[in-house]
Amino acid sequence: MKKRVLFINPGKNDYFTVGRIHMGQTLLGGMLKRQGHEVLVMDYAFLRGLRGNIRVPEIEEVVETFKPDVIGITVFTYVYNECLSMIERISMSTDAPIILGGPHFIMFPGDFGSDTRISYLVRGEAEDVIKDLVVTAKKEKTPVSIDCTLPSPEGIPAVNLDIAYGSEFLSDYQIQLSRGCPFDCTFCNVKMVAGKRVRLRDLSLCVRQIIEAKKRYPNIRTISITDDVPTINKNRFKEFLKMLKNANLDCELTVDNVRADLIDEEMIGLYVSAGGQNICLGVESGHPEVFEMTHKGESLEKIAVAAKLIRKHGLTLGMCFVIGLPGDNLKRHMASLRFAKTLKPDYAFWNMCVPWPFTEVRQWYEKNGTIGELRNFSTLIDPMVNYQSPPAFTAQFPPEDRIKAWLMANMQTYWFDIRSLGKLAREAARYGLYRPLLIFAFGKTLHTIKMRLEFLARNFKQFGLYFTAGKVLRKLRQHARI
Ligand code: SF4
Repeated sequence: MKKRVLFINPGKNDYFTVGRIHMGQTLLGGMLKRQGHEVLVMDYAFLRGLRGNIRVPEIEEVVETFKPDVIGITVFTYVYNECLSMIERISMSTDAPIILGGPHFIMFPGDFGSDTRISYLVRGEAEDVIKDLVVTAKKEKTPVSIDCTLPSPEGIPAVNLDIAYGSEFLSDYQIQLSRGCPFDCTFCNVKMVAGKRVRLRDLSLCVRQIIEAKKRYPNIRTISITDDVPTINKNRFKEFLKMLKNANLDCELTVDNVRADLIDEEMIGLYVSAGGQNICLGVESGHPEVFEMTHKGESLEKIAVAAKLIRKHGLTLGMCFVIGLPGDNLKRHMASLRFAKTLKPDYAFWNMCVPWPFTEVRQWYEKNGTIGELRNFSTLIDPMVNYQSPPAFTAQFPPEDRIKAWLMANMQTYWFDIRSLGKLAREAARYGLYRPLLIFAFGKTLHTIKMRLEFLARNFKQFGLYFTAGKVLRKLRQHARI
């Protein structure tokens, strides 16, 4: 029996908009579409950014007009409250069975277990179960739990963007060339979500999928590689870069989650020639002892060498730090800040440490600190200086010190928006952070101008005048709309 399937990704009510459409939903939805089901994806995280371009219907209107037989909702821990509210609104509008999935259930397997509004809880990657589940789905009295096995790389299909509302405005196409990560970083939950065995997808197939997506959606201007550890096989990633360059797509390329010990100069050169824009290195901590305790299996020296190579090739350099890892304190945090200032990243993420269930960091905090509520905590850094209390702390690194560390780091690496200066001044007065405030106040504008000029120069070199001018015009229009 053919069904009408509605997938929903609830968005967070915060400053951020997402330029990408939820990959899991368009991928599972694509599988169902090929089976003959009618599928609609409402990714509100993406659609929030389109308000002003198109009318985005509220979920009640979508349910009323689409009349779904089955509803799937992705739950991320940081949008837990938004998911609760979405479930409430949906269950007031329809009796269709609700399936919940997403990474939240790997970390919190007991959540929603007795919620009678939910019919199914899916844990893990759902490619191998979704077809049967949709066909047999019915309203259950209490949620039925379904544990999934990880699909083989051949079992990971292409996304289908046609089924996503607003996809004609998509500018950022994301793809995974592999899933899984073999490393054992103590703070990371990827091994629970995607497994330790790396599943490598067929590269020619991936490149074909990118080419087809670009043909069908000409507004796509960025290709984002979102593997857990994309360069795990350096030669394979170089091969991919060559194939992408030969495809001549006139698209920028970005890559998430890069390890310093898995890049080299040849790769960076190929990355630039394939349209590469930035590389963000995971540093975590610049303090040797804290760094050692992360069990990353690489060294700060390697990170420094990689950062210099990235700069040498004119790419935007990003760095990712975690505040409050085991052994960290305010004094040790200063070593991270010094490390960042020496290597001068164009941008740095200073994330608060979140002791995710089943990680070693969690065990450490259970012995040595206090863990608060992780649901709804977002590690995204709001440029307008709205922040939540740290979700964990220790006697050596109490919440006030963590906030202080976060503020001073984000000021000195120019993350905040210049429009937040008044608010920052009040925070600086509260925490005695006058020097970081001055650095931010005098450096932010210059930093922004420098970054933009470098960006334009690189774009001009990579894609020529037409592409660069088009980009400038789009940005100006965007600003005019804001
Ligand atoms: S932080 Fe990156 S390299 Fe480390 S385990 Fe997680 S995904 Fe793997």
